[in-house]
Amino acid sequence: MTDNLPPCPDCSSTYTYQLDALLMCPECGHEWSASASSEGGAEIRDSVGNVLNDGDTVTVIKDLKVKGSSSVVKVGTKVRGIRLVDGDHDIDCKIPGIGPMGLKSQFVKKVSG
Ligand SMILES: [Zn+2]
Repeated sequence: MTDNLPPCPDCSSTYTYQLDALLMCPECGHEWSASASSEGGAEIRDSVGNVLNDGDTVTVIKDLKVKGSSSVVKVGTKVRGIRLVDGDHDIDCKIPGIGPMGLKSQFVKKVSG
């Protein structure tokens, strides 16, 4: 039994096999990197599972208290140009009217378009 390898992108042969980090096609001789599709694991996703990227616009899905102040980031607040970072608060951004702060990805939703 073989792994479920993708078909050859050149000739669509399903007889592809893996050799180290490469996928090989025995029919046309094409070889390509297997890592492109198995990348990931470090993806940051929003509350509904959309993958977030630097520069995305998101909305806040619940009221969030701002640490060390009496301000609250209200549900529905639109935040443009987020930056993804490592850590507990994995989104770096600037909230209109409040300033720079960190958000947790599970409390935002990506705005498409
Ligand atoms: Zn092929």
